[in-house]
Amino acid sequence: MKQNSHEDAYALLRQSGHRATEGRARILEVLVKEQKPMTVPEIIKKLGHAGLNEATLYRALEALASSLVIRRVDLQKGNARHYEFVLKHHHHVVCLKCGVIEPFSNELCGRIAERAIKKSKLFKKASDHSLEVFGVCVRCLNKNHV
Ligand SMILES: [Zn+2]
Ligand SMILES: [Zn+2]
Ligand SMILES: [Zn+2]
Repeated sequence: MKQNSHEDAYALLRQSGHRATEGRARILEVLVKEQKPMTVPEIIKKLGHAGLNEATLYRALEALASSLVIRRVDLQKGNARHYEFVLKHHHHVVCLKCGVIEPFSNELCGRIAERAIKKSKLFKKASDHSLEVFGVCVRCLNKNHV
């Protein structure tokens, strides 16, 4: 099972035109498995003692984020940059207190992006868009009442 996901990560890297290195495959494997936006320290924790430092990992993630394999997500949590493997286009609702993340998708977002471009004088085409919604989750709300 584990062997497979590692092989898959390699295949995915090659498909998207990236140099498939052991390090990149392992990073991608973590993100594919976790299926959520993760910060660099969170990824390092999952990788265990892989001998990767933050700067190296950050560079690798930025390289991967230049294609559509991995997305950079801004969740405003202390401005830490999150990275996520995105199989299907979606957005997030984020708790400002505990940071819990819930994905959501809505076909309207694509139309809003199109409208923005249509009205734009400077742009003719959108390549991507992002939308995150922020609030306080029910669990955090209840905690305050105790
Ligand atoms: Zn997501
Ligand atoms: Zn919360
Ligand atoms: Zn969207």
